[in-house]
Amino acid sequence: MPLRLPDDLMVSVSGVRGRVGPSMTPELIAGVAAAFGSWLLDEGQDGPVIMGRDSRTSGPMLGRAVLAGFQSVGVDVIDVGIVPTPTVLLAVDHHGAAGGIAVTASHNPAEWNALKLISSEGMFLDGEASLAFREYLTTQDPERAPWDELGEVTSDPSAVDRHVGAILELPQLDVERLERRKLKVALDCVRGAGGVIMPRLLEDLGCEVVSIHTEPDGFFPRDPEPTAEHLAELGELVRESGADIGLAVDPDVDRLSLVDEKGTPLGEDLTLALAAAVVLRETPGPLVTNLSTSRVVEDVADAYESPLVRAPVGEINVARRMQVEDAVIGGEGNGGVILPNLHLTRDAPVAAALVLQYLCDAETTFSRAAADWPSYAIVKTKVSFPREQLEGAYTALVEDLDADTEDRTDGLRLAWAKERAWLHVRPSGTEPIVRLIAEAPEAERAEALVARADELLKGVV
Ligand code: MG
Repeated sequence: MPLRLPDDLMVSVSGVRGRVGPSMTPELIAGVAAAFGSWLLDEGQDGPVIMGRDSRTSGPMLGRAVLAGFQSVGVDVIDVGIVPTPTVLLAVDHHGAAGGIAVTASHNPAEWNALKLISSEGMFLDGEASLAFREYLTTQDPERAPWDELGEVTSDPSAVDRHVGAILELPQLDVERLERRKLKVALDCVRGAGGVIMPRLLEDLGCEVVSIHTEPDGFFPRDPEPTAEHLAELGELVRESGADIGLAVDPDVDRLSLVDEKGTPLGEDLTLALAAAVVLRETPGPLVTNLSTSRVVEDVADAYESPLVRAPVGEINVARRMQVEDAVIGGEGNGGVILPNLHLTRDAPVAAALVLQYLCDAETTFSRAAADWPSYAIVKTKVSFPREQLEGAYTALVEDLDADTEDRTDGLRLAWAKERAWLHVRPSGTEPIVRLIAEAPEAERAEALVARADELLKGVV
């Protein structure tokens, strides 16, 4: 019998996700892992797979289910333990693995967990592969191995060491200079997997570290999404300790958020911009980001005469486009930085190292260094809207708003070059809602754009 998925389990491009309890059970997760192992074999992949997880309390239970599922179809598994998601992807590369699973619900609250599925390329499954796997999962009964052909489980405790080592070797970093500057860094890992890598990486970069919530036990003391409004405690720590900068990561350590030396949370919009500045000033080249990322990355790309390419929202869409463009850096406005000479996935430890290099080289305070770049206001909202009327809505918006450019690769994005403003109208893939995101140098203009779009959408239905 193929696996029957409960209705409240979310199956998407990135994997399966649900609340621990009735929907995220070890039985179900073992079934998904068995199907994934069997599908990889069908796809002609051999070799072991990698399993790693963040610090959630459900991680050991679901992790063991993943191991058992793989073993049951005769696939060997290397368990890398509690590590950042980018560390799992790097381990897939290192071991030449057939694929992998990261057990993490990323920035979602503690009661959630999820499986993120990884291909032999050391990247998440793309849209096509994930559709193929979903079809397999819901229609096929994976062939189980007999008693003498079960997969073996081994552990690899060195994945974090290799990750830190690879970052220290990055040609974009001047570690000696960082060691001389001895930056004082305040760190908040929200009791996620960041505690196993961030303090150590920062110390290896010569920083003095003061930290909160580095115990990787999954008891998140606040909303674990590292947006500015959740970083008051880190701001306090920066002020109390006199730190040069504050850094916060999400539970699976692929997003980095910034706090200035005054303790003001700047959020995640600047992370990619500052990391990109460090890379592009040495090696100008294509920068790829998504359609909803702040325009400040465009300013950075312009400053270093580098082309900026925007891909549809979704990490794998950005990563795939980076391959096509031969990009030198890429990422998302949510603090996710992708440095292709390490790997094609969002990596907060890499982002932290690049941002610290930026601050070190600026030879001033972080708030002044950040003010080298224009600041913008982003306004986001969502409205309910029927999918079948979207085309009509796009036409109405294009006609009314008179933009300089329009992009329809992921909803509708309109931009006004001289005003340095844009509006992205993006339908949800799963619900009859549309997200409206606008950015402009002045909050009033961004708010007016969202309000006008909302009005136009209401006029269509
Ligand atoms: Mg994450």
